[in-house]
Amino acid sequence: MAPAATLDHAVATLTDGSEVRTPFWHIDSGRAGESFMVLAAQHGNEVQGCEVIRRFREVCEQGLRAGEVFLVPFANLPALRHRRSHISLGPEQSYSDDAGHNMNRTWPGDPEGNDTARVSHSIYEAVARHCSRCLDLHSWSRFTATATLARSDNEHSTAMARASAIRFISWRPGGGNTGGGTTIGAHFNNDPARGAITIELAPQWVIRPKEVAEGLRAATNCAKLFGMLDGDPEPLDGPYVEFGLDAEGDEARLHKLEAPCAGLFVEAGLQTSDRVEADQVLGHLIREEDLATVEFHAPAAGYLWNYGCFREHSDVGLPGQHPWADAGDLLASVRES
Ligand SMILES: [Zn+2]
Repeated sequence: MAPAATLDHAVATLTDGSEVRTPFWHIDSGRAGESFMVLAAQHGNEVQGCEVIRRFREVCEQGLRAGEVFLVPFANLPALRHRRSHISLGPEQSYSDDAGHNMNRTWPGDPEGNDTARVSHSIYEAVARHCSRCLDLHSWSRFTATATLARSDNEHSTAMARASAIRFISWRPGGGNTGGGTTIGAHFNNDPARGAITIELAPQWVIRPKEVAEGLRAATNCAKLFGMLDGDPEPLDGPYVEFGLDAEGDEARLHKLEAPCAGLFVEAGLQTSDRVEADQVLGHLIREEDLATVEFHAPAAGYLWNYGCFREHSDVGLPGQHPWADAGDLLASVRES
């Protein structure tokens, strides 16, 4: 008999005395095994993982045979209601203007801290402290490919990344945790008995079938890796593209296409993560100076890591997504596998 999910809430009391009740599902197989936490939307504009979790719940209800899962689709409920990354942000303010409200830097939270740290503390107490594995679902802008962020010094994180079937793996050597505060992934990966990966399901603001399917496959594959679901992880179609541990080699395998002049960049209908062949058309510029069409071709065969003209703050404002290119702007980059 498949176990049904039960609904529970992590309850935080905010500085003004009001409560945030974060809903989560718990599914217990009744048998020994890992305790697997999947959370999404620590940043309120990163919503693809919410739907991944809704669908992963159905998978677990049908087949969980060992261990238990805790599923938190709305990790930062106040930021979702605010429709921005953090509750502290106004229009076009960068993620880094967090004023201490970047939930991703607050783990394991603080019951006496600011309102965001209080919410993360409530989730830590109700969910994370019971868990041995963690999948943290985020999204970055559409101009950088969907990728797994994993820690090379934690064997569980390493195994999860290689089971994820997400094309790009960005390895982090561990030890460093820049920007102050701890991500939930670092909190898990600093303990050799636990492990975590983060998956950035590009892009933000929207929920798309392709990335939801990739996220669901990653969560399902991890559960299979842990022996919680029957079957082998579904493999990636083609090779992983890995980087982060060999700066020189990474540089040699990354081929950048930059605008030689100013103009409007017109994409050729591709998306990040797409396979491209050397010389394949990637798009063209309508050149500012003389309105000439300047066509661009892939500088190498590989997978699109960056695609489209963008600049700083493309994740929080439309001007940063504008296809007007200045000379020297990055238009695309291809990583060799
Ligand atoms: Zn995020």
